[in-house]
Amino acid sequence: MTNYKLNSPIQELSGVGQATAKLLTKLHITTIKDALMNFPREYDDRRNLPTISQLKQGHIQSVFAIIERITEKKIKKKAHIIEAILVDKSGRTTAVWFNQAYLLKILVPGQKVLVRGKIDRSLFSQTDIIQVQHTELLRSSKEIKDNIGIIMPVYSLTAGVYQTQIRHIVRAALKLSPSLIKDALPERLKRLFNLESLNRSLIEIHYPKSVNGYKKARHTIVFNEFFYYQLRLESQRLEHQKHSTAITLKPTYKLINLYLNSLNYELTTAQKRVVAEIIEDITSRTAMNRLLQGDVGAGKTDVAIISLLCAIENNLSGALMAPTEILATQHYFRIKNLLERYGINCCLLKGKMRKKEKELMLEIINSKEPCIIVGTHALIENYVDLSQCGLIVIDEQHRFGVIQRIRLQEKGCKPHCLFMTATPIPRSFMLTCFGDLDKSIIDELPPGRTPVKTVVSTQEYLPHIFQICYQRLLESEQIYIVYPLVEESEKIDLQSVAEGVQTVSKCFPNHKVGFIHGRMKSNEKEGIMADFKQNKINILVSTTVIEVGIDVPNATMMIIQHADRFGLSQLHQLRGRIGRGSKQSLCYLITNVKSDLSSKRLNAIASTTDGFKIAEYDLSIRGPGDILGTKQTGMPNFKLADLVQDEKTLVLARKVAKQLLHDDPELITKDNQLIKQELIKYEDSIIGKYLN
Ligand code: ADP
Ligand code: MG
Repeated sequence: MTNYKLNSPIQELSGVGQATAKLLTKLHITTIKDALMNFPREYDDRRNLPTISQLKQGHIQSVFAIIERITEKKIKKKAHIIEAILVDKSGRTTAVWFNQAYLLKILVPGQKVLVRGKIDRSLFSQTDIIQVQHTELLRSSKEIKDNIGIIMPVYSLTAGVYQTQIRHIVRAALKLSPSLIKDALPERLKRLFNLESLNRSLIEIHYPKSVNGYKKARHTIVFNEFFYYQLRLESQRLEHQKHSTAITLKPTYKLINLYLNSLNYELTTAQKRVVAEIIEDITSRTAMNRLLQGDVGAGKTDVAIISLLCAIENNLSGALMAPTEILATQHYFRIKNLLERYGINCCLLKGKMRKKEKELMLEIINSKEPCIIVGTHALIENYVDLSQCGLIVIDEQHRFGVIQRIRLQEKGCKPHCLFMTATPIPRSFMLTCFGDLDKSIIDELPPGRTPVKTVVSTQEYLPHIFQICYQRLLESEQIYIVYPLVEESEKIDLQSVAEGVQTVSKCFPNHKVGFIHGRMKSNEKEGIMADFKQNKINILVSTTVIEVGIDVPNATMMIIQHADRFGLSQLHQLRGRIGRGSKQSLCYLITNVKSDLSSKRLNAIASTTDGFKIAEYDLSIRGPGDILGTKQTGMPNFKLADLVQDEKTLVLARKVAKQLLHDDPELITKDNQLIKQELIKYEDSIIGKYLN
């Protein structure tokens, strides 16, 4: 007998040849485990099949009967019809197969079949006809028992693979599963949380016997998926705590107080709380690993600067990485303007820079004098020496990949790390993607902000909207007009923005209109942003390059063209560029798309300024991958679990995993032995591998 393993190739199952195995890869089935985890797309309830006399016209139904007679009808070259009379105890009916000539060889009188199809009424004979879509031959009483009177799984298919074939393969795998899968969860936990054994759950999920049985099976498998993932995250977090001894940064508050006094406002309670959390982290011997969440405009930059100053106060450098050149430059100037007078060195490092300038900056950075280094992902380059960095801040961290994040972290000497994001990450996501980070939240906007008013409108109203622009301009306020540019290289898009600029310039002859997009030269972009900041440019027409971080409080109006082409969270980010002062800001979302979904989405944005609600909504309509980028965040690919639908189970699994490691950090108790093994050979376990 073959010694099967979960990871044995699927060909090792009897009846699966090379050709089939090759086709199955298209369904992502290459091993026995894949077959077990190939969950049904839907179910076909055959517990109470109708008899022939019970078939209902107009419905799609299955019926089990015997073939009495068969006729072949070739009407035209391309229309081949098989007609059969089916009988059972209750009566007889006609079944027809269109263009399935190959069945002629298989369907013979006396054969027992299950057919599924639409029940139609024949126009002439006034009798019922089944238009067959799916046929199963049932040759033995065992086959009948296995396929009739139960709930059958319906699997996704690919060309050349039949439903009956996949069922056969999954059944064969299920037969082996008790010898392959050990249930690692202790009985105590299973009883406590109403979990079934994994083996039984797998059988039940493929061949459910009752609704309750199915629910329990699904709950069990989902719990297992979440549980092992959370266990891994939590043990990683604990490992990190144990091993990453960092240089402790004790603030002297000399520079921090100077900085705070230079601001013409007081930090909000939330900002103060977060600063305290960060200081607690960095004064300990474990490297900080903290995610700071705060809606657009919540004031994360100040928190970042204060953190960086802690490094300087300890004679070390601090680095701030931002996703775009414009944002990095903005941060650089803000920091430089406020801090250089106190003798703090500031550097800016970007990909595109004049050679001389870059050399000068690198000289400062590599001199190991404490300084604040602001930059784009250029900071990751090998020639940048960050070994003197005690603390690293990554702004808009969701814009960077995990790899970039880790590379930057590795460059410092066990630096404290603060990841900042304005993308409100729904809780289920947070627990999954960032389960290993500590979290801080700025849940309060600075006082005196008036929420942005958002209006969904069409191109026809543009003249009216321009009237409002005119009023705002008269009051010395500024305006953004944003165009979508999915790929910065899309020529047509760029053309439409250029035309937009012309129209706008014509409509506002007495005002200065600026134009900025990603393909411009660095210093050109900088010049335009500087002019906008000083209100030398009154209207800024732009692509999404201004999406993140840009802070010009005097801009109080935004018009977003083709708003339907943006993601919801992206719209929210864009809109966050206005509403930064006390004046009521206005945002117009222009669209000419009339679909239901489009108007639903845009109305969702218009109805709330709560980024969290928007992200939840976005998650429910687009799914996780699209929002944060599956690859980027290292988002696991769960087989059955769904982050939205199964949030409760996720929270439970996380709680159980944390408690387990809290009570038994090394997993040495007898009860937890199997869990430990599962965790060690995670990739080879039933739940592993699919994740990541
Ligand atoms: P974000 O969290 O989106 O990065 P910023 O740090 O850019 O937000 O802050 C947005 C604006 O709010 C900036 O102009 C900043 O100066 C201002 N700001 C920050 N904190 C406060 C505060 N406590 N009171 C008033 N204004 C503040
Ligand atoms: Mg910011």
